[in-house]
Amino acid sequence: MSPTSLHPWKTPGTWQHALPAFGAVAATLLLLSVLGHDGRRIAQVMALALPVLAWLTWPVRSPAMHALRCAVVWLCAMAFALDAVTRAFLLDAYQAAPKSSLVQSAAANTNARETNEYLSMHWRSLVLWCGALAAAGWVFGRCVRHGARHASPLSPWFIAGLALIVLLGTVAHLSKPWRRLHPVVYWSDWSRSVIALRSGWADQERERQVLMERARAAQPTIAREGPATLVLVISDSINRDNLSLYGYGRATTPRLRAHKALLGDDMLVMRNAWSADASTIPSLRNMFHFGLPPDQQPHHVLALARAAGYKIWWMSNHDDVAIEQQHARLADVVEIVNRTPGRAGASLDGELLDCVQEALEDPAERKLIVVHLMGAHPHYSLRFPVGANPFDDHIDPIEEGLEREGRSRWVRRFRQEYDSALLYHDFVVAETLQLARQSRPAEGYKAWMYLSDHGQEVGHGGNFAGHSPTTASGYRIPAIIWRNRLTGPNPEGVERRPFRADWAGWTITNLLDVRWHGDDTDRNVLAPGYRWQPPNLPVEVPSFEE
Ligand SMILES: [Zn+2]
Repeated sequence: MSPTSLHPWKTPGTWQHALPAFGAVAATLLLLSVLGHDGRRIAQVMALALPVLAWLTWPVRSPAMHALRCAVVWLCAMAFALDAVTRAFLLDAYQAAPKSSLVQSAAANTNARETNEYLSMHWRSLVLWCGALAAAGWVFGRCVRHGARHASPLSPWFIAGLALIVLLGTVAHLSKPWRRLHPVVYWSDWSRSVIALRSGWADQERERQVLMERARAAQPTIAREGPATLVLVISDSINRDNLSLYGYGRATTPRLRAHKALLGDDMLVMRNAWSADASTIPSLRNMFHFGLPPDQQPHHVLALARAAGYKIWWMSNHDDVAIEQQHARLADVVEIVNRTPGRAGASLDGELLDCVQEALEDPAERKLIVVHLMGAHPHYSLRFPVGANPFDDHIDPIEEGLEREGRSRWVRRFRQEYDSALLYHDFVVAETLQLARQSRPAEGYKAWMYLSDHGQEVGHGGNFAGHSPTTASGYRIPAIIWRNRLTGPNPEGVERRPFRADWAGWTITNLLDVRWHGDDTDRNVLAPGYRWQPPNLPVEVPSFEE
């Protein structure tokens, strides 16, 4: 079918005639972009692509130029289409973005078996998306041949439209966050980070081997007969001042309070718990390395536990390459349910509960189950189910108090969302405790420990919300310990003892009953000989024991 017979009312080769071809290319690309990108990124990607596509409407006379234009527009459209289709495939098959650690680790991993596994699991999806790409390539191929060839009077609408496309395209190319979405920029950046990841891993893998060797050399043993299970729940950004278990005015922890009422002294609520760090990576490093600096060549808690004979699980709602490499990969089983890099994902912590249940049912005799929650990490509104905010419908004493202290409306609003996140968090944390308590064998030793990596400022010591190295709220964390069986009575007033998250390793190994050369009880908050030293925080804290 010739173009003339398609549009007999237009003179072939004019811009009017080229418009439908341009429209078809743009519409095809838009369709694919909607499948592969979300929200305003669709508009940003289209703004980057359109100027080249719009070249189709600008008359070129020479046959050589026409051929060149065909090639350039086709290649450009295909680059954007390939980008969109790849993203759509990854979303479809793995619910993951290209820069998630799942995808990047898979790409950095040259293991052929794994690649085959991925492909055999998702070949239908792969065939479908390759088909979509081929169809787009065919449409583009048909359309680029119908670019404008000779001049005809330009309408003001046409000029305005073209100017707008060029203007938007210029803005898109000048703006760094927009430009980053250009397929050429994005994927060259992506491959650079995959290469960096691969070379970084070699070191991390070696680092883990060193940790395991160091652990074995310390000859750790388990000083307890029979089955033993510890569930270690590490949360993120929880400020104990907002937990009703710690006396907060809003009922944010009904389930944990019910557990405490039932369990009494078997469930220790550490009233004066502090983190020594205000962000995740350093806090976790300290937690698992006994709060000792790297130059002292400290052990890793997981390496010691594994060398002593524990089977270890690491299950997480964080997609974080560093944490995965530095800690999680020391475990026997690693399950990461959230595949959106960083902490902007909306995967709820409750997704992990099935994994906890499965691990508890595993027949291994000695189990350490690490559960890494997103807790109440910003954005708070992503940390609870949509609509589950009971604190925003009326003015309560907390709201009045914040108002009296002159906290802005948006901080008060954040506080409501934060508290709602804690209410959902209460459900998840209490559920892990419940699962640990119910686990079999009923007569085996069971323990559960919960703590946060650091605190959070939500209008307590400043008129802002977020991670806070500069106010005490950034370090005021909860820490709770439950055991079904005590070896002796709890030390006098143990719940009032100040506790440091960076010393948690000493308490965790105590709960695991792991002993090794170099073991020390000075820093184990449960030990009779515990010797408190305040952490060196960059903020003035009047008292660590309130
Ligand atoms: Zn954190």
